[in-house]
Amino acid sequence: MTASMSSIDRNHIWHPYSAMNSDLPIYQVESAKGVRIKLSDGRELIDGMSSWWCAIHGYNHPAMNAALITQLDKMSHIMFGGFTHEPAIELTKLLVDLTPEPLQKVFYSDSGSVAVDVAMKMAIQYWYAKGQSQRQRFVSLRRGYHGDTIGAMSVSDPETGMHTLFKHALQKNLFVPQPECHFGEPCADQALQLLRDIFDKNDDIAALILEPIVQAAGGMWFYSAEYLQKTRTLCDEFGVLLIADEIATGFGRTGKLFACNHAGISPDIMCLGKTLTGGYLTLAATLATDDVASTIDSGNPGIFMHGPTFMANPMACTAALTSIKLLVNSPWQENILRIERGLRKGLERCKDVGHVEDVRVLGAIGVVELKQAVLMESITQAFVDKGVWVRPFGRLIYLMPPYIMDDDTLDILTSATAAVVAAHCFS
Ligand code: PMP
Repeated sequence: MTASMSSIDRNHIWHPYSAMNSDLPIYQVESAKGVRIKLSDGRELIDGMSSWWCAIHGYNHPAMNAALITQLDKMSHIMFGGFTHEPAIELTKLLVDLTPEPLQKVFYSDSGSVAVDVAMKMAIQYWYAKGQSQRQRFVSLRRGYHGDTIGAMSVSDPETGMHTLFKHALQKNLFVPQPECHFGEPCADQALQLLRDIFDKNDDIAALILEPIVQAAGGMWFYSAEYLQKTRTLCDEFGVLLIADEIATGFGRTGKLFACNHAGISPDIMCLGKTLTGGYLTLAATLATDDVASTIDSGNPGIFMHGPTFMANPMACTAALTSIKLLVNSPWQENILRIERGLRKGLERCKDVGHVEDVRVLGAIGVVELKQAVLMESITQAFVDKGVWVRPFGRLIYLMPPYIMDDDTLDILTSATAAVVAAHCFS
């Protein structure tokens, strides 16, 4: 990066969760292809993050590129009010076919956080239409993360989330403990007692919102499918809507196409994002059942009150359509199992390191939880020096490689991770 470019970046651009005067290293990317990211100084990094869990087919995929070029020649954008187009129609058909059967209606928006806000608004309008306008509060799980907009923040973890800072701006929602029952284990009814009590005592709950099976940004925690089944049963018992935020888990990451499939349940509303476009463009979708949609339609004002400018952008829909077809027409389940095996084998050696608390793997997600928080500057540098791109947070070093990563490259990635974990990069 030239000195003047670096100065513009430093002085004028905010990066995610950063200070304008930050002196954390920032790397200029020249290009990316397959699972490799090329920096402007010529170095190449193996991608362990899939660009925050999106780029499942890697970068610069020929089929994705070709589909987007074809679409670009037709139109890059057209307003969705009063118009429709083939990419949106075809994508919708695919999403309705692939997601659990009761989900039949699709609302497109720009990002995961907005998809969550849209889901929350759907739940509120659903109850409004039913004459229960007091139902405007939400219940969610502690250690959950649903995004950075005001609505999404209000259902994200109250401690690690930004509730103190935005105290007076956020709705006061309710929280139940993070499920302690591990993935693959049963879950006693006792674990849901507080949720039952909340449903029982409050008549103002619109929905329970949760990340099914994997609580991602809140701690990379994998919990019991039985817990998820039991939340569905409780929601049914008390007539509360269930919103599944599959933004991090959708499209195979956990070994099933959707994390809800581990529990064989269907939510009333589901949020998709991130991997939806294979990491090419920003797009999110909020899916709802016929019941949710027709109830909203039947009430006052008889329409759903949301409509983003770039709703169902044709380029983004084309990317999503192409990415999903690539995925479902590939032996993706075997592939995720292969990556799961590689992550298990590769990260196992971290278990013996003194400052490691836990090592866990599910699907194409590998997590090394440390006893102390990492020092971002030195750990990022250590990974880059080893030729890999891994971006830890807090006490968590985790890998979410693109699904196309071969075994040898995965081995290089996990070996580098194990070496960095063994070194001293801690506060
Ligand atoms: N929900 C979950 C489960 C997420 O992991 C994220 C992003 N990490 C979001 C919502 C927010 O998505 P976006 O960053 O696209 O707004």
